[in-house]
Amino acid sequence: MHNLWGIFKVDFRVITAVLLAVAVVALCFSAPYISSAYRRSAGRTVVIDAGHGGADGGVSGVRTGVKESDLNLAMSKIVGEYLESAGFNVVYTRKNEKGLYSALAANKKRDDMEKRAAIIKRAEPAAVVSFHMNTYSSPARRGAQVFFDGSSLQGKLLAETVQDTLNREFNLPDTGREYSALKAEKYILQCSPYPTVIIECGFLSNAIDEKNLTDSEYRAQFGYAVFGALAAFLYVQA
Ligand SMILES: [Zn+2]
Repeated sequence: MHNLWGIFKVDFRVITAVLLAVAVVALCFSAPYISSAYRRSAGRTVVIDAGHGGADGGVSGVRTGVKESDLNLAMSKIVGEYLESAGFNVVYTRKNEKGLYSALAANKKRDDMEKRAAIIKRAEPAAVVSFHMNTYSSPARRGAQVFFDGSSLQGKLLAETVQDTLNREFNLPDTGREYSALKAEKYILQCSPYPTVIIECGFLSNAIDEKNLTDSEYRAQFGYAVFGALAAFLYVQA
């Protein structure tokens, strides 16, 4: 009996030692991998595009008349700050209320969009996120929708990652309805080879969405969800 206990004691110590050794070896191999993947993803560039600006205010709020261009800018700054604080390099297409077009341009919208494309191409980013606010003929329509270019597999993956997050954290709890990320033929999606999404954050034709999106606390929560989805996408790509 005494000897038997002795054997068990030895065995237990051996098993513990083996388990510890396995854990240490696993950590030694996984920690450098995790940290280098993190470094590779964290140092990458993201272009944040606040849609519209200047004379082009985009759509406006049904209750307050708030301009889409101003809300796009506010959301861009929030997401950009989260990305910067996590170590990503952020390039903004605009950081104030002005459009990018030249006052002398014959076609200001075209000039504005081409300047955004030039910024994206110069940045050679790992991802591009363009913020917009939606509108619809039925005032009941609510929620966040994400769009991508059909020819971009990476754009589709990024769009689905962001859409899934926004469905889980906002669309389903707030409205009981989820959206699929959708293909769209838009200049900003097609002007560069980099993975690009348009996020329509909500409908300014709906009074509740408008109320939420004009609230800075809601924008911070929404922006943090977008940041989390972006970081997950960039981490996988690293
Ligand atoms: Zn827009």
